[in-house]
Amino acid sequence: MMEAELFVAWFEEAARQVRDNRDRLTRLDAAIGDADHGTNIDRGLTEVLKELAESAPRSPGEVLTTAGATLIRRVGGASGPLYGSLFRQMGKTLESPVTLARFAGAFEEGVVAVERLGKATMGDKTMVDALIPASRALALAVRDGVDVRRALDQAARAAAEGAKTTIPLQARKGRASYLGERSIGHEDPGAASAALFMAALAAVAT
Ligand code: ADP
Ligand code: MG
Repeated sequence: MMEAELFVAWFEEAARQVRDNRDRLTRLDAAIGDADHGTNIDRGLTEVLKELAESAPRSPGEVLTTAGATLIRRVGGASGPLYGSLFRQMGKTLESPVTLARFAGAFEEGVVAVERLGKATMGDKTMVDALIPASRALALAVRDGVDVRRALDQAARAAAEGAKTTIPLQARKGRASYLGERSIGHEDPGAASAALFMAALAAVAT
């Protein structure tokens, strides 16, 4: 079972991992964007932690909707509203007590919200290329009756692999698409941060 505390711990760990990787994310965005992705997400997660501490949400769904709304409000740039939609939609969908199956379902709904807002699909070289594999891994884990810990490890690995698949792609959405063929050969920063989010969840789930 996954309690509200676990979801708060998720954002704390994500903030830590993003802080550790801020310069790498910024370098990735410098190559094919405007070099602000690391600072955007870092600042956004700092605001999320502040908001979670102040509003003390009690259910997993509330933690997620609070985080999502904060990211939408506080992060300029494409990634704020996109991550915000992911977490807000997850939070709206997720029922307590949270089981792996419910979590996987809510995650999938969140990813659909990202796709709807950004109109990106698999292969457009965006965060979606990491999020969809993670969602599929969770669905497979549910089908196979895998325990939460293993399921989240598999989702994290799928997201990391998905992020790497963006390297040879030409961007079709977001700022990077303005570069045309010059976007080829670089990992998408949003896909890289999505992989960090999934790694953070796997790290806090015991
Ligand atoms: P901005 O591009 O406004 O500077 P960020 O640098 O914070 O915002 O985020 C860039 C990331 O956002 C990209 O690497 C990509 O993963 C993601 N992104 C941009 N546009 C879209 C979109 N339409 N759909 C999905 N993801 C997108
Ligand atoms: Mg940027």
